[in-house]
Amino acid sequence: MEFKDKSEIKYTISGHNPKYKNFPMVPRVVFGQGSFNQLGDILMAKRKHSDSPFIFLVDDVFEGAELAVRIPAIFCDQIIFISAEEEPKTHQVDALVQKIRNDFPEYVSGIVGIGGGTLMDLAKAVAIMLNNEGSSSVYQGWDLVGKPSVYHVGVPTISGTGAEVSRTTVLLGPKKKLGINSDYTTFDQVLLDPDLTQGVSKEQWFYTGMDCYIHCIESLNGSYLNAFSQSYGEKALELCKEVFLDGLTPSESRDKLMMASWHGGMSIAYSQVGVAHAMSYGLSYLLGVKHGIGNCLVFQHLAEFYPEGVALFKIMREKHEIHLPEGVCAHLSDEEFNTMISVSMGMVPLWENALGQDWRKIITPEKLRSIYQKI
Ligand code: NAD
Ligand code: ZN
Repeated sequence: MEFKDKSEIKYTISGHNPKYKNFPMVPRVVFGQGSFNQLGDILMAKRKHSDSPFIFLVDDVFEGAELAVRIPAIFCDQIIFISAEEEPKTHQVDALVQKIRNDFPEYVSGIVGIGGGTLMDLAKAVAIMLNNEGSSSVYQGWDLVGKPSVYHVGVPTISGTGAEVSRTTVLLGPKKKLGINSDYTTFDQVLLDPDLTQGVSKEQWFYTGMDCYIHCIESLNGSYLNAFSQSYGEKALELCKEVFLDGLTPSESRDKLMMASWHGGMSIAYSQVGVAHAMSYGLSYLLGVKHGIGNCLVFQHLAEFYPEGVALFKIMREKHEIHLPEGVCAHLSDEEFNTMISVSMGMVPLWENALGQDWRKIITPEKLRSIYQKI
């Protein structure tokens, strides 16, 4: 989920905020089937000495799996398996940082995240916090990180979120769910090996893949759109259509969805997401609904905002026989609806991007409630 404030987009001209965002990009990237085998060599060049380990944060779906055996852990490197059942939390990041500091009072060589958006975000946050004091919750916001993070590498094992390219790590804190948005968040190295996505279930493949599709639709139909975002968004959308509508081989499909995720992430980096993300954020905050499925639950009901995008979404959902849960909001109280509505309406830049400056004339609490009630 992208929750950028207006200072991150090009139309802001205020105080000391620059007019145009000076956006950091991942400086090094490897792409290709089987490229995971190169990870050991890549890390070797970054090892400080044999007592300065790499810490691998790995989705626990790989515990005992073939991939775990292939992780190039040597010397005193540590592999920590982490569940992606729940979205990352600030206290989880703080506990991991504490553990790593206790185990290795000297410097670590770096952090490697292996998994989906959840593990990408945890790896980014831990890398930041190893070099910055206090709780990670203090840094939720925009450009609050003072010191560069330790070297960190992202190895995605599922495609769609764009977390591998973004300058944010979305965390649930004690008071808010918000990203640590900073120039130090972005990975130093990403390794894109489409083979790693082979074990993903069909449902999860669809939900996380649709996150990418929805990034494209929201970016390309937003008022913040510019040639930078458009160029990446159009490419990502084209790739999504190939993956979800054409008869690609599984291998081609994995390659293309991994690149769609990358381009989709680049597209929203320089624009913004829209209605589905703003409403999905409310669902996630109240009910813990995960990002990909939450976006799908909302997006199916947004034909009035994104008519073509929603029509195509329905075709893709039917083609892949995905049945979304129903009645998710059926038993919510007035208070719970109001919580979701106020969280969603707080996403001002997303609404502005989607509907322009006068979005409040269209989006009222009653309007949002009527959409949530359909979910
Ligand atoms: P995820 O990391 O939550 O994983 C979803 C499920 O897929 C998990 O059960 C996981 O174990 C499983 N899985 C992952 N790879 C697998 C594989 N190869 N084989 C079998 N199972 C596998 O999924 P996601 O949709 O990639 O990430 C969602 C998270 O990403 C949310 O926390 C969201 O907030 C975050 N996000 C971050 C950004 C960003 O820019 N930082 C952008 C969008 C979303
Ligand atoms: Zn998203």
